[in-house]
Amino acid sequence: MKVTFFSTKPYDKEFFDKVNKDFNFELDYFETHLGPHILNVIDHSDAVCAFVNDNLNAEVLQSLSQKGVQYIAMRCAGFNNVDLEAAKRLGLRVCRVPAYSPEAVAEHAMAMILTLNRKTHKAYNRVREQNFSLNGLMGFNLYQKTIGVIGTGNIGKAFAKIAQGFGARVLAYDVAPSEGLQALGIEYVSLDNLLAQSDIISLHCPLMEATHHLINKESIGQMKENVMIINTSRGALIDTKSVIDGLKSKHVGYLGIDVYEQEEKLFFRDLSHTIIEDDTIQRLMSFPNVLVTAHQAFFTSEALLQIASSTLTSLSNFGQNKDFENSQAVLV
Ligand code: NAD
Repeated sequence: MKVTFFSTKPYDKEFFDKVNKDFNFELDYFETHLGPHILNVIDHSDAVCAFVNDNLNAEVLQSLSQKGVQYIAMRCAGFNNVDLEAAKRLGLRVCRVPAYSPEAVAEHAMAMILTLNRKTHKAYNRVREQNFSLNGLMGFNLYQKTIGVIGTGNIGKAFAKIAQGFGARVLAYDVAPSEGLQALGIEYVSLDNLLAQSDIISLHCPLMEATHHLINKESIGQMKENVMIINTSRGALIDTKSVIDGLKSKHVGYLGIDVYEQEEKLFFRDLSHTIIEDDTIQRLMSFPNVLVTAHQAFFTSEALLQIASSTLTSLSNFGQNKDFENSQAVLV
């Protein structure tokens, strides 16, 4: 099987090449994003392997199908950038990696909370400048604070357990509550209740019509003053303009984002010598109480190994026509 990769970084190649020793597929790597501009490079490929910011709309899928591509392998959990209806219509099979080390993302969400709270990023720079003053570094105890988790799937569950480990009261909201978490003492409440009671809110639900701009002017208005909002899920869960207004009015006390609505033009690239035209991200980065990381929550060696292994296994199953319809990896 020949697989053409898009948005490839050196670390993707390293882990896929390693795992491919067990599969012997022909792997063809391209650094560029997948979109209408790059379809000419597809040459006798059976499969395309894409990532979070690739464009797999109906037009792109149709061209891929015309070029003989049969399988689309998303090497990520989210699939909001794939037109699944179009894929189905075209007879393309689509898979994703449903759960690759959910702890990687959950631990990063907690790292963002601890950094924003205890300001370790500022302390690190200060001490290097021989400034040993503590002024402005005061944080708060997580112990007995209320942490709200929106979306308690694989990642939300792992995060809720970590938050519980800090002695926080953990509230959860999900359209499908988990009995396992309830048994651990995690309390499911309505979204309104979670917004009103939480000192920290961490987003772990997928991006879909129902969750688009879940965090907006109205929902921010329901939150506690000085709330901390953490988003390691998908950028468009937050209406960025409203959160900027919330930060300016000090209603939002802290914001940690690993994902951003317009991230496809920025993230995963070195733009240090470029003039950035996106004024919104520049405004966000100018707040002292905002922490932005560039979609790195998944980025652990354990997760990369699992991503490569799960993706090539799914493609192998597709190729052998193996029935794995019940697997959460199969989208179409
Ligand atoms: P999952 O499918 O296991 O869990 C998602 C949960 O959200 C489910 O329990 C589902 O019932 C719930 N949900 C669905 N609609 C909801 C709604 N309207 N309100 C509240 N909850 C709702 O997914 P996961 O593996 O936990 O991943 C969650 C998200 O994290 C993914 O969709 C992806 O966008 C994001 N993600 C980010 C990174 C990163 O590196 N930053 C890495 C992996 C995944």
